[in-house]
Amino acid sequence: MRIEEPRKIVFATNNAHKLSEIRSIMGDKWHILSLKDINCFDDIEETACTLQGNAEIKARYIKERYGYDCFADDTGLLVDALDGAPGVYSARYAGPEHDSAANMELLLRNMADKTDRKAHFSTVIALIKGDELTFFEGRVDGEILREPAGDEGFGYDPVFRPDGYEKSFAQMSAEEKNSISHRGRATARLIDYLNR
Ligand code: IMP
Repeated sequence: MRIEEPRKIVFATNNAHKLSEIRSIMGDKWHILSLKDINCFDDIEETACTLQGNAEIKARYIKERYGYDCFADDTGLLVDALDGAPGVYSARYAGPEHDSAANMELLLRNMADKTDRKAHFSTVIALIKGDELTFFEGRVDGEILREPAGDEGFGYDPVFRPDGYEKSFAQMSAEEKNSISHRGRATARLIDYLNR
Protein backbone atom coordinates (compact mmCIF):
# COMPACT_ATOMS: atom_id res chain seq x y z
CA MET A 1 0.00 0.00 0.00
CA ARG A 2 1.36 3.44 -0.95
CA ILE A 3 1.03 6.12 1.69
CA GLU A 4 0.35 9.49 0.09
CA GLU A 5 2.59 12.36 1.13
CA PRO A 6 0.71 15.50 2.15
CA ARG A 7 0.70 18.08 -0.65
CA LYS A 8 2.53 21.31 0.04
CA ILE A 9 0.72 24.60 -0.25
CA VAL A 10 1.70 28.07 0.93
CA PHE A 11 -0.58 30.29 2.95
CA ALA A 12 0.84 33.77 2.18
CA THR A 13 0.95 34.95 5.76
CA ASN A 14 3.14 34.91 8.85
CA ASN A 15 0.20 35.46 11.19
CA ALA A 16 0.66 32.65 13.72
CA HIS A 17 -2.99 32.73 14.75
CA LYS A 18 -4.29 32.29 11.18
CA LEU A 19 -1.75 29.52 10.51
CA SER A 20 -2.51 27.42 13.55
CA GLU A 21 -6.24 27.81 12.96
CA ILE A 22 -6.09 26.57 9.39
CA ARG A 23 -3.58 23.81 10.13
CA SER A 24 -5.84 22.44 12.84
CA ILE A 25 -8.86 22.17 10.54
CA MET A 26 -7.10 21.18 7.35
CA GLY A 27 -6.30 17.57 8.25
CA ASP A 28 -3.21 15.71 7.06
CA LYS A 29 -3.81 15.79 3.30
CA TRP A 30 -2.16 19.22 3.05
CA HIS A 31 1.07 20.54 4.49
CA ILE A 32 0.59 24.28 4.98
CA LEU A 33 3.73 26.39 4.68
CA SER A 34 4.00 29.97 5.88
CA LEU A 35 6.00 32.71 4.13
CA LYS A 36 8.76 32.20 6.67
CA ASP A 37 8.81 28.45 5.90
CA ILE A 38 9.72 29.20 2.27
CA ASN A 39 12.20 31.93 3.25
CA CYS A 40 10.08 34.71 1.84
CA PHE A 41 10.66 37.86 3.86
CA ASP A 42 9.50 40.29 1.19
CA ASP A 43 7.01 43.00 1.93
CA ILE A 44 4.38 42.14 -0.68
CA GLU A 45 2.70 45.42 -1.51
CA GLU A 46 -1.09 45.38 -1.53
CA THR A 47 -1.68 47.93 -4.27
CA ALA A 48 -5.12 46.86 -5.52
CA CYS A 49 -8.28 48.76 -4.64
CA THR A 50 -10.34 45.62 -3.88
CA LEU A 51 -9.98 42.78 -1.38
CA GLN A 52 -10.06 40.33 -4.28
CA GLY A 53 -7.28 42.21 -6.09
CA ASN A 54 -4.99 42.25 -3.05
CA ALA A 55 -5.55 38.58 -2.28
CA GLU A 56 -4.70 37.74 -5.90
CA ILE A 57 -1.53 39.89 -5.85
CA LYS A 58 -0.19 37.98 -2.83
CA ALA A 59 -1.04 34.52 -4.18
CA ARG A 60 0.44 35.29 -7.63
CA TYR A 61 3.60 36.74 -6.12
CA ILE A 62 4.37 33.46 -4.36
CA LYS A 63 3.37 31.23 -7.27
CA GLU A 64 5.47 33.19 -9.76
CA ARG A 65 8.61 33.59 -7.64
CA TYR A 66 8.58 30.44 -5.51
CA GLY A 67 6.58 27.99 -7.65
CA TYR A 68 4.31 26.77 -4.86
CA ASP A 69 0.56 26.48 -5.04
CA CYS A 70 -0.63 29.22 -2.74
CA PHE A 71 -3.58 30.93 -1.14
CA ALA A 72 -3.77 34.41 0.35
CA ASP A 73 -6.48 36.35 2.13
CA ASP A 74 -7.54 39.94 2.49
CA THR A 75 -10.16 41.27 4.85
CA GLY A 76 -12.03 44.53 5.26
CA LEU A 77 -14.71 46.08 7.44
CA LEU A 78 -17.31 47.80 5.26
CA VAL A 79 -19.59 50.33 6.94
CA ASP A 80 -22.80 51.32 5.13
CA ALA A 81 -23.01 54.89 6.48
CA LEU A 82 -19.39 55.49 5.38
CA ASP A 83 -19.99 54.24 1.83
CA GLY A 84 -18.08 51.03 2.47
CA ALA A 85 -15.09 52.58 4.30
CA PRO A 86 -12.66 51.60 5.71
CA GLY A 87 -13.02 48.55 3.38
CA VAL A 88 -9.82 47.58 1.62
CA TYR A 89 -7.97 50.19 3.74
CA SER A 90 -9.08 48.69 7.10
CA ALA A 91 -5.53 47.98 8.33
CA ARG A 92 -4.31 51.52 7.59
CA TYR A 93 -7.48 53.57 8.13
CA ALA A 94 -5.81 55.96 10.60
CA GLY A 95 -2.39 55.88 8.92
CA PRO A 96 0.34 53.58 7.64
CA GLU A 97 1.26 52.26 11.11
CA HIS A 98 -1.50 49.59 11.14
CA ASP A 99 -2.49 50.79 14.61
CA SER A 100 -5.71 48.99 15.64
CA ALA A 101 -6.55 51.34 18.52
CA ALA A 102 -6.14 54.42 16.32
CA ASN A 103 -8.19 52.80 13.52
CA MET A 104 -11.03 52.00 15.92
CA GLU A 105 -10.95 55.49 17.43
CA LEU A 106 -11.17 57.11 14.00
CA LEU A 107 -14.03 54.80 13.04
CA LEU A 108 -16.00 55.71 16.18
CA ARG A 109 -15.37 59.41 15.54
CA ASN A 110 -16.57 59.15 11.93
CA MET A 111 -19.64 57.24 13.13
CA ALA A 112 -20.49 59.59 16.02
CA ASP A 113 -23.49 61.23 14.31
CA LYS A 114 -24.66 58.19 12.33
CA THR A 115 -27.84 56.37 13.22
CA ASP A 116 -27.41 53.74 10.51
CA ARG A 117 -24.79 51.48 12.17
CA LYS A 118 -24.91 48.60 9.66
CA ALA A 119 -21.58 47.07 8.65
CA HIS A 120 -20.07 43.81 7.51
CA PHE A 121 -16.72 42.10 7.49
CA SER A 122 -15.68 40.48 4.25
CA THR A 123 -12.78 38.09 3.66
CA VAL A 124 -11.67 37.07 0.21
CA ILE A 125 -9.25 34.18 -0.28
CA ALA A 126 -7.46 33.77 -3.62
CA LEU A 127 -6.17 30.27 -4.36
CA ILE A 128 -3.72 29.50 -7.16
CA LYS A 129 -3.51 25.76 -7.69
CA GLY A 130 -1.58 24.77 -10.80
CA ASP A 131 -2.64 27.43 -13.27
CA GLU A 132 -6.13 27.82 -11.86
CA LEU A 133 -7.21 30.89 -9.86
CA THR A 134 -10.23 30.52 -7.56
CA PHE A 135 -11.79 32.94 -5.06
CA PHE A 136 -13.67 32.14 -1.85
CA GLU A 137 -15.64 34.76 0.08
CA GLY A 138 -16.97 34.88 3.60
CA ARG A 139 -19.10 37.62 5.09
CA VAL A 140 -20.65 38.43 8.44
CA ASP A 141 -23.21 41.20 8.91
CA GLY A 142 -23.62 43.27 12.04
CA GLU A 143 -23.39 46.77 13.43
CA ILE A 144 -20.86 49.23 14.80
CA LEU A 145 -21.23 49.79 18.54
CA ARG A 146 -21.02 53.27 20.06
CA GLU A 147 -18.08 52.29 22.24
CA PRO A 148 -15.63 49.36 22.47
CA ALA A 149 -16.69 46.25 24.43
CA GLY A 150 -14.51 43.23 25.28
CA ASP A 151 -10.80 42.39 25.14
CA GLU A 152 -10.62 39.24 22.98
CA GLY A 153 -9.70 39.10 19.31
CA PHE A 154 -8.00 41.93 17.44
CA GLY A 155 -8.56 44.83 15.07
CA TYR A 156 -12.11 46.17 15.09
CA ASP A 157 -13.51 43.29 17.17
CA PRO A 158 -14.48 45.45 20.20
CA VAL A 159 -16.75 47.70 18.10
CA PHE A 160 -18.43 45.05 15.92
CA ARG A 161 -21.55 43.22 17.07
CA PRO A 162 -22.62 40.43 14.69
CA ASP A 163 -26.35 40.17 13.90
CA GLY A 164 -28.18 37.76 16.20
CA TYR A 165 -25.80 38.30 19.14
CA GLU A 166 -25.90 40.64 22.12
CA LYS A 167 -22.11 40.90 22.35
CA SER A 168 -19.19 42.15 20.31
CA PHE A 169 -16.66 39.90 18.56
CA ALA A 170 -14.24 40.88 21.33
CA GLN A 171 -16.60 39.37 23.92
CA MET A 172 -16.59 35.97 22.21
CA SER A 173 -14.18 33.07 22.55
CA ALA A 174 -12.01 32.48 19.47
CA GLU A 175 -14.03 29.33 18.80
CA GLU A 176 -17.38 31.12 18.89
CA LYS A 177 -16.13 33.94 16.69
CA ASN A 178 -14.52 31.57 14.13
CA SER A 179 -17.74 29.60 13.81
CA ILE A 180 -19.60 32.64 12.41
CA SER A 181 -16.87 34.98 11.20
CA HIS A 182 -16.07 36.22 7.71
CA ARG A 183 -12.67 34.47 7.78
CA GLY A 184 -14.14 31.29 9.27
CA ARG A 185 -16.70 31.12 6.46
CA ALA A 186 -14.22 31.86 3.66
CA THR A 187 -11.78 29.33 5.11
CA ALA A 188 -14.47 26.65 5.35
CA ARG A 189 -15.19 27.11 1.63
CA LEU A 190 -11.49 26.88 0.76
CA ILE A 191 -11.01 23.72 2.83
CA ASP A 192 -14.08 22.14 1.36
CA TYR A 193 -12.67 22.79 -2.13
CA LEU A 194 -9.16 21.55 -1.36
CA ASN A 195 -10.38 18.39 0.33
CA ARG A 196 -12.78 17.45 -2.45
P1 IMP B 1 -6.09 41.26 7.03
O1 IMP B 1 -6.35 41.35 5.57
O2 IMP B 1 -6.52 39.95 7.64
O3 IMP B 1 -4.70 41.65 7.40
O4 IMP B 1 -7.05 42.34 7.72
C1 IMP B 1 -6.96 43.73 7.43
C2 IMP B 1 -7.44 44.54 8.62
O5 IMP B 1 -8.84 44.30 8.83
C3 IMP B 1 -6.76 44.17 9.94
O6 IMP B 1 -5.61 44.93 10.15
C4 IMP B 1 -7.84 44.51 10.96
O7 IMP B 1 -7.79 45.87 11.25
C5 IMP B 1 -9.12 44.23 10.21
N1 IMP B 1 -9.61 42.86 10.52
C6 IMP B 1 -9.42 41.75 9.77
N2 IMP B 1 -10.04 40.70 10.33
C7 IMP B 1 -10.60 41.15 11.46
C8 IMP B 1 -11.37 40.52 12.46
O8 IMP B 1 -11.64 39.32 12.46
N3 IMP B 1 -11.80 41.32 13.47
C9 IMP B 1 -11.51 42.64 13.53
N4 IMP B 1 -10.79 43.27 12.63
C10 IMP B 1 -10.34 42.54 11.58
